[in-house]
Amino acid sequence: MNRLLGLPRVPLATLPTPLHPAPRLSEAIGVEVWLKRDDLTGLGLGGNKVRGLEYLIGDALAQGCDCLVTGAGPQSNWAMLSALAARRCGLDPHLVFYGSPVSPTGNLLLDELIGAEVHYTGEPDRTSVDAGIEALAEKLRAAGRRPYILPRGGATALGSAGYLRASLELAGQLVDACLAPAQLWLASGSCGTQAGLVAGARWLRTPYEVIGVSVSRPEEECTHRVRALAEDAAELLGLPGNDPTGTAEDVTVLGGHIGPGYGKPSEEGAAAAELVARTEGVFLDPVFAAKAMGALLRSAPAGPVVFLVSGGTPTLFAARKESM
Ligand SMILES: *Cc1c(COP(=O)(O)O)cnc(C)c1O
Repeated sequence: MNRLLGLPRVPLATLPTPLHPAPRLSEAIGVEVWLKRDDLTGLGLGGNKVRGLEYLIGDALAQGCDCLVTGAGPQSNWAMLSALAARRCGLDPHLVFYGSPVSPTGNLLLDELIGAEVHYTGEPDRTSVDAGIEALAEKLRAAGRRPYILPRGGATALGSAGYLRASLELAGQLVDACLAPAQLWLASGSCGTQAGLVAGARWLRTPYEVIGVSVSRPEEECTHRVRALAEDAAELLGLPGNDPTGTAEDVTVLGGHIGPGYGKPSEEGAAAAELVARTEGVFLDPVFAAKAMGALLRSAPAGPVVFLVSGGTPTLFAARKESM
């Protein structure tokens, strides 16, 4: 028996999220596509991060923490949703952003509404956030607080439990729909979501291959992170891990779809998002899902495929010129 059920978890998401066919999109591109709507997870404006936060905040509460410290960029879906989840559970949210203060649009506007304590590193480099989180946590500890610290994106073995659970949810929906998709497509950033889905696919021996489209890192780095996180998650939960012989290469990450850079809309992604909006009435965010759909359209797989609509709705309202 695995340990998924024994982990502390706070219910934050409205589950299951819908799985529905996308007939007009499918006809337009000649591939049978189904959409798994994790933009509708129901906390705030939804998104994939909510699933991992159920376990991460569950752990924070089990440890008796009184505040949450994490970080990213000012338009981060992760930062906003973790601050929101913290508020829902009575923890004070602290966010560390790289760079300097920018005008409040999109997620940053919502961070202000939540009343998250926002700190800027003053350095343009994304990795400056990691040291900033540590320094802030130290300050809070010195002031007698009990901070719970989460890395950028929440990509930890425990956070991946959210998409292990989602794999079970999807497996049930596929049975109900009499659907055996060849592939499950998603955008990969900090890689925790794909890691959970890969570990889940191995555990449940799913018919589909998980295809991650890297939107923020080189393909090799993303592949390596997915493998390592999937292995850690499997170990944490007592599930089958990576093939020790390394012969079954079951982690697939596609590169070449970042466009002008992480957080910056790409032409290919914008065209894909427009097509999905106009055929299915579904919005894809410009930073993640739009680029993953662009990759799906370019590779034109033999269907049927499931595409994870992963959220990021607030970034539809972020000023385009600002870094996300
Ligand atoms: C964070 C995020 C992703 C990627 O998830 P990771 O676990 O960071 O790889 C995809 N889509 C949206 C909208 C996100 O916010």
